[in-house]
Amino acid sequence: MRKLDKNAVFNIAIKSILFITASAGCFCLLKLLLGIPVIISAVISVIFALLLVLLFSFLLRYTSFYFGYYSFVSAFLHKDRYGNVFCPCCNKYFSHFHDEQYYSDDKHFNPSMFRKSRQDVICDFCRSAPRHRIIAEWAEQNIEILKRSRILYFAPELSMMLWFRRHNINVKTADLFDRRAELKLDLTALDIPDSSVDIVFCNHVLEHVTDYLKALSELHRVIRKDGMLVISFPIDSGSDHIRQEPTASAEERIRLYGQYDHLRIFGKDSRDMLENAGFEVSTIDIGNMPENIVPEEGPSDFDSNMVFVCVRK
Ligand SMILES: [Zn+2]
Repeated sequence: MRKLDKNAVFNIAIKSILFITASAGCFCLLKLLLGIPVIISAVISVIFALLLVLLFSFLLRYTSFYFGYYSFVSAFLHKDRYGNVFCPCCNKYFSHFHDEQYYSDDKHFNPSMFRKSRQDVICDFCRSAPRHRIIAEWAEQNIEILKRSRILYFAPELSMMLWFRRHNINVKTADLFDRRAELKLDLTALDIPDSSVDIVFCNHVLEHVTDYLKALSELHRVIRKDGMLVISFPIDSGSDHIRQEPTASAEERIRLYGQYDHLRIFGKDSRDMLENAGFEVSTIDIGNMPENIVPEEGPSDFDSNMVFVCVRK
């Protein structure tokens, strides 16, 4: 049975408080002020409070970009300006990062590939994983380049979007499925001109697309010469080469790659793969980064924190 985590407890507590106060307030108004009979007042109050809780859940879930209710509540509780950990994406200190408990969701993930020891790595507010905080630190160091670049951000994530907005850096967002992105683009057939972009950010997308080599070739086409591709994807450090099984079912993908919608897992030859696609490849050095951003690996065993900065040749 799935463990009831702290966020679920907050969720239930806040909604219960909202339900009780709304129904009591409505009941007092109907019965005491308007003199409506008890039974009718009670029924109307309960229906009103239920609708209010539903509306509340809906608004928190859908009104802002990935801004989930869970992170909203737990960020409030764990925010600590003298805290031990810092998220450079949302610019906030916390007492600690939190555990997303992927390992307790075996319908979508393979628990054995999300070892518990690595789980306290997700930012309460913006849900950044270590890789996002590493990229944000790198972006701070390269801010002048970013400010004068045409940036395309594939599959945008709240954490880095917060960083870009805070620094007034314009990015064009793109996604094939997420309608919140500005451009609807297929990474394997980009509907944009050759050499029209200076920098592309593309985090954990390549493991989802059907033809990753075509995607890399398209990225190479649209990035101008000497432009950059900042890219990361899951890597199995125990595997020399990419592992993929095109006909695998969702259950098999969970077993093989750790996640139901991952079509492959990359291997130790990822750098060669990027070089073969026409890039000069380096990785973001996390050696000098502050320890309080917790640049540890995770949450999955394949989230290696290897972020490639590829210069287009
Ligand atoms: Zn954050």
